Amino acid sequence: MLQVDAIDTFYGETQALFGVSLSVGAGEVLALLGANGAGKTTLLRSVLGLTRPRRGDIRFRDRAITRRPTHEIARAGIGWVPDDRRLCPTLTVARNLSLGIKATGFRPWTMDEVTEIFSPLKYLMAREAETLSGGEMQMVAIARALLGAPGLVLFDEPSQGLAPKIVDDVMAVIGRLRAEGIASIVVEQNAEVALAVADRVVVLSRGQVAWSGTAAALAADQPLRQRLVGGL
Ligand code: ATP
Repeated sequence: MLQVDAIDTFYGETQALFGVSLSVGAGEVLALLGANGAGKTTLLRSVLGLTRPRRGDIRFRDRAITRRPTHEIARAGIGWVPDDRRLCPTLTVARNLSLGIKATGFRPWTMDEVTEIFSPLKYLMAREAETLSGGEMQMVAIARALLGAPGLVLFDEPSQGLAPKIVDDVMAVIGRLRAEGIASIVVEQNAEVALAVADRVVVLSRGQVAWSGTAAALAADQPLRQRLVGGL
């Protein structure tokens, strides 16, 4: 579904990613772990064309997207759930959701489906986004990504600042995406949460891939986990 091949990404003259490669198959959940500043968000921004890699290639469904504009990358079927949610604060929930709707070639999710997944949304439609709680905003951000008919969803720290019950709901949605053949990349500070939902894991350290393998292998190897993501 997605292949990232040896990308170098810079902010000005500061290099944030050094030859990073990874891949995600259809319906696969990849956890992207690493300490603060390791380059996780930069990897997502590189895939989305928000911070363009200077070298290397990114392919989605076997088509190069490395130098495509962000709106085309979104229309190819890559959804984004940003860590700061990026809702339009003064627009209603309904309007924020409808802004996410697009045709990509992947199966579109209906408004009924997303309100069935996140039932509180039904009662929030007329509310302005800026009046929502953090958990409610996260539901809107994920629902908006699904309405955009994604084949791959990039989640940036989806559990951050959320109550445990809502974290469980979010992880259940990621599991449901997998069942529907939709791939996910989940950037997480909370390694335990990520390992519970992921198939495979890539650990970044100082802009490089420090380890990659199955979630089961990392979960079973406590010393390895301690060494790689001990502080997380
Ligand atoms: P966090 O968990 O703190 O978000 P991260 O793993 O997502 O960390 P990135 O945000 O990708 O890390 O940051 C990678 C490196 O790039 C860091 O050294 C950071 O200081 C730098 N960086 C990130 N954004 C910018 C920017 N807009 N301008 C300059 N440097 C940046």
